[in-house]
Amino acid sequence: MDQTTVLSLFKESGALLEGHFKLSSGLHSSKYLQCALVLQHPKSAEQLGKTLADALRDLRPTVVLSPALGGLIIGHEAGRALGVRAIFAERQEGVLTLRRGFMLAETDRVLVVEDVLTTGGSTRETIQVARAAGGHVVGAAAIVDRSGGDARFDVPFDALVDVDLPTYEPDACPLCARGEPVAKPGSRPVVA
Ligand SMILES: [Zn+2]
Repeated sequence: MDQTTVLSLFKESGALLEGHFKLSSGLHSSKYLQCALVLQHPKSAEQLGKTLADALRDLRPTVVLSPALGGLIIGHEAGRALGVRAIFAERQEGVLTLRRGFMLAETDRVLVVEDVLTTGGSTRETIQVARAAGGHVVGAAAIVDRSGGDARFDVPFDALVDVDLPTYEPDACPLCARGEPVAKPGSRPVVA
């Protein structure tokens, strides 16, 4: 799938909307992104996982590691397409950790996968978890990069699409200034 096809999957499922939104942070934006809405469709999740896997197969990963919760479904689908294990790290008292008996061996080539890369913080943290557990991190990937290209890692990184999500303080919002009504995503169906 190319960028256009990926974006059309997002738009069809309401995972990417354009308009005037109040985000859960309280900030306003002209776009709304919620990956879970595209991943709720197993067929789409499978296609996205396969596309990520095809882009990253050359790194020869032996295991996919994702941060919970956002990375779980796409990590699982990428692992399925690569034919390797898919495990996840989760927060315990605020610290991302491997639990549930998940282990990495020194011979493991770890691919870190998440849904949306915002600042890169959670991917960076997941890379640390993998290294602390003894794995060799060969790369990182996300479905969407909304960092504006700012996120940098010491391993190769790839995303299926780049999405620019401008956010504004409500009193500095140009959409409010134009008098456009603001919608809270999830409160009612919105047609993109
Ligand atoms: Zn506004």
